[in-house]
Amino acid sequence: MGDARLAAARGIDDFPSRAELEMQLMGLLPEEWWDAVAEGDDDRLDGLKAAIDNPAIVRALGEAGWVAPHYAIEHGGRGLSVSQAQQALGLLDWFEVPRVPRGSGLPLAAPTIQQWSIDETKQRLLPPLVAGVERWCQLFSEPGAGSDMASLATTAVRDGDEWVVNGQKVWTTFGHESEMAMLIARTDPDQPKHKGITYFGLDMRAPGVEVRPLVNMAGQLEFNEVFMTDVRIPDVLRISPVGDGWSAAMTTLGAERHALSGARKKRRSSDEILGGKPYAEVAAMGAVTGSLGSAIGRDRLVVDYVSDRLLSLTSQRARARAAAGQPAGPEGSVSKIAKAAANQRLQESAIGMLGAAAIAWDVGDTEAASWIEQFLRTRANSIEGGTSEIQRNIVGERVLGLPREPDPFRGVPWRSVPRS
Ligand SMILES: Cc1cc2nc3c(=O)[nH]c(=O)nc-3n(C[C@H](O)[C@H](O)[C@H](O)COP(=O)(O)OP(=O)(O)OC[C@H]3O[C@@H](n4cnc5c(N)ncnc54)[C@H](O)[C@@H]3O)c2cc1C
Repeated sequence: MGDARLAAARGIDDFPSRAELEMQLMGLLPEEWWDAVAEGDDDRLDGLKAAIDNPAIVRALGEAGWVAPHYAIEHGGRGLSVSQAQQALGLLDWFEVPRVPRGSGLPLAAPTIQQWSIDETKQRLLPPLVAGVERWCQLFSEPGAGSDMASLATTAVRDGDEWVVNGQKVWTTFGHESEMAMLIARTDPDQPKHKGITYFGLDMRAPGVEVRPLVNMAGQLEFNEVFMTDVRIPDVLRISPVGDGWSAAMTTLGAERHALSGARKKRRSSDEILGGKPYAEVAAMGAVTGSLGSAIGRDRLVVDYVSDRLLSLTSQRARARAAAGQPAGPEGSVSKIAKAAANQRLQESAIGMLGAAAIAWDVGDTEAASWIEQFLRTRANSIEGGTSEIQRNIVGERVLGLPREPDPFRGVPWRSVPRS
């Protein structure tokens, strides 16, 4: 039964070991899964998704090389060509098979390691990453270095085959549940701020790493402060060449903009990663509360609808570029700015429609509470992954070719730049 459905997946050409993958999927997912996908029964599929052991499935697929099939076998893949891998991943996407490990390992760390690391480092870091055995977080931002990330003050000093790290990071999403981290640290303070930075893979379980959770305004534990005191990193975990960490960090940030722009393939807009409720749910809520009866309510929702459609079409174009093998570029910033603004506006529409319940809701009204929680979460959309102001600077400088933002300390050694 399922066999025939798998084989019938439209638009998916053959690729090496397809039969092996299909056999594995039959063993990993319940029989009803295939029916729910074939019938487009999203509610049933959501129920099945909630019941399965997601990490175990990701791990099984990752260990068999199907999470990143275009990676070399010794790097956790199957050594397929890019187009063969696209077919394999297309099959997994078509059947909505969970294949992405939690955390920022696969979308952000993996492309950076692929581009910048030596083979030995790839062999150590990539296989547990693609299997989700080691989840990753990002140690870039510091209390004194957010938008101006190149000012970072965390240091890494070489000691034989190891590096000794001291400093503090902040805003570390999922730092409390990650085994590994992308760390950028200053290795040469006598160079100008963009130079003399090196990029490492840090073991979050190493002695001297202290994670202190922070609770956001929606009451969720999402990010953390991370303190590092004399933490030792073996040189084999160095991801970039010494002093070239800024360029490697740009690979990570380009991938992050791409991910946060909504350009990753998603079946339904409710699967977007920025938080907030999708347009269809907001419109449905408007119908229930009677907000659509007013011209102002309808007018507002039409603007939200147009934004939703435009972003969806722009994402399709970005996916087509990615499918053609073109790398994510600064153009991703345009989508990220627009996505953040549209998502925040949509949640504001929802709060308006909720009326008085948005200010004071009954304790047991979990529905209202969840609208508020989503609304609050989306306030971060224009900050996380680089603020909208910084994204506009990137668009101005790198897409439109406008003059660079003035920097009076350009070229001055980091050690000599005044800091507050
Ligand atoms: C939910 C969330 C999750 C995050 N997760 C992570 C994570 O996992 N890892 C990580 O390393 N970081 C993470 N961050 C941090 C994020 O990247 C920073 O918050 C962001 O880069 C802004 O830095 P900052 O908070 O220090 O603000 P600042 O840089 O102090 O900026 C303050 C204000 O000044 C504006 N501003 C600053 N410089 C300029 C300029 N040159 N031109 C115009 N305006 C400017 C900014 O736009 C902003 O409005 C996360 C942030 C959030 C909100």
